[in-house]
Amino acid sequence: MTKREMVCVSCPIGCAVTVELDDNNEVVSVKGNTCPRGDKYARQECTHPERMLTSTVKLEGGKLPVISVKSASPIPKEMLFEAMKEINKVTLKAPVKIGDIVIKDILGTGVDIIATNES
Ligand code: SF4
Repeated sequence: MTKREMVCVSCPIGCAVTVELDDNNEVVSVKGNTCPRGDKYARQECTHPERMLTSTVKLEGGKLPVISVKSASPIPKEMLFEAMKEINKVTLKAPVKIGDIVIKDILGTGVDIIATNES
């Protein structure tokens, strides 16, 4: 049995959560969360961690040489590095609107990369 300590990042309160894992890395218990979202976060963090991705993409013809982007929802943590490589290959042309899809279904995750600013 092992214990993992983590901070739930599902809301600004940031509860300290303790997860007990058995020898097969299966979650046995989650303690310290003060709402169900913390339980869900802790279980996912132990089995299939995901993160939101935020970055910038090169932009031609805009007010600035780059524009900010983010993943529309979290993507698997282990894919963040490859996703950044894909994002770095892209050059957009102005005009770009907030919410425009920059990369659809990045790396087959089902998650789009979208613009978070306008050019
Ligand atoms: S457990 Fe609930 S209250 Fe605590 S940080 Fe997570 S979402 Fe917020």
